[in-house]
Amino acid sequence: MSCTVAVVGAGPIGAATAYGLTRLGVPGVTLVGGEAGHPAYRSSGGSVCWHRDDPAKAAMIRATADFVRDRVAAGAPIGVRETPYLFLDAGVLVPALNIAAADLVADLAGLAAAGGAERADLGTVRRVEPAGGGHRVVGDAGTLDAEVVVLALGTGNPAVLGERALPGGPAPVEKRQLFVLDLPVGPERAGLPHLVAAVGAGWAYVFVKQTPDGLRLLLGQEDLIEDADLTGPVDHLAELLDAGVADRFPFLRGAAAERVLWGVDHVDKHPSVVAHARGLLSVHCGSAVRSCVPIGQRAAAAVTATLGGAR
Ligand SMILES: Cc1cc2nc3c(=O)[nH]c(=O)nc-3n(C[C@H](O)[C@H](O)[C@H](O)COP(=O)(O)OP(=O)(O)OC[C@H]3O[C@@H](n4cnc5c(N)ncnc54)[C@H](O)[C@@H]3O)c2cc1C
Repeated sequence: MSCTVAVVGAGPIGAATAYGLTRLGVPGVTLVGGEAGHPAYRSSGGSVCWHRDDPAKAAMIRATADFVRDRVAAGAPIGVRETPYLFLDAGVLVPALNIAAADLVADLAGLAAAGGAERADLGTVRRVEPAGGGHRVVGDAGTLDAEVVVLALGTGNPAVLGERALPGGPAPVEKRQLFVLDLPVGPERAGLPHLVAAVGAGWAYVFVKQTPDGLRLLLGQEDLIEDADLTGPVDHLAELLDAGVADRFPFLRGAAAERVLWGVDHVDKHPSVVAHARGLLSVHCGSAVRSCVPIGQRAAAAVTATLGGAR
């Protein structure tokens, strides 16, 4: 099998990159899918919001939110709720969306397919090696040759890049967890905003999300409990409640975790598009669900520059 551009990894960044390429009219795009490893987007809280003082990131999030709103208005099946962030300490309300990340990924991949992108599943991708004037993507279930390869495997990029990974080592990653609480969400709670409060040296947040089991309250935290176990979920809920979360959110007292959504994400929330060799790019970004649409455009522009240089 061969193509012009192989986008390897069909999460938010890969799907958005394939869509970005087809929008630019690049022929011969193949989106290499599969669900190897632990796809971060499948555990994502789906928050599309930015509240820190960073205009560049804020613009990327606005672009993604606008894209989602336009697609929903056009009838695309993307689960979406308007859930503003309420910062309890500052008394500030910030508009925000909560989306089903898997729906957004499916929609972007569908748009890429409608624009002519092919789809391939090579199983777990192991490496990329030189082939002809381009590269060969080698997976457990097959290979694909391409003039340009874009790796969009999330935190799985370094394993495939091997010694071509970033100088200085792979970009730092962190574990993220969300506790799906066993508390009822009736009509009186369904419209709660996304509540954010300072707790100790960190933050805790509670929000209502549509899950396959119905509306649920989810609890997350930053900088309260560090957890270096990157291999699976750990239920820290009781510890978090005792650490001050139950004082800030008394209605959570006595809650248990029905499930823990977890994954590993990049710490840096700014996109990185890196050329490791001629025609071999990688893309990554933390909290990428909320900014994937412009990241895909940026990666697509880098690919067209590479193709232009090669021809
Ligand atoms: C608990 C949790 C909550 C989060 N909440 C939010 C949030 O509210 N808002 C937000 O914006 N972000 C959130 N994030 C972060 C967000 O999910 C990630 O930043 C985003 O998914 C990264 O996108 P990606 O496309 O780079 O990687 P991924 O989402 O990981 O997708 C990569 C794809 O490549 C595949 N893959 C990986 N390795 C291989 C391989 N070797 N072979 C074949 N396929 C492979 C994976 O299966 C997956 O399909 C959260 C993450 C977690 C874990």
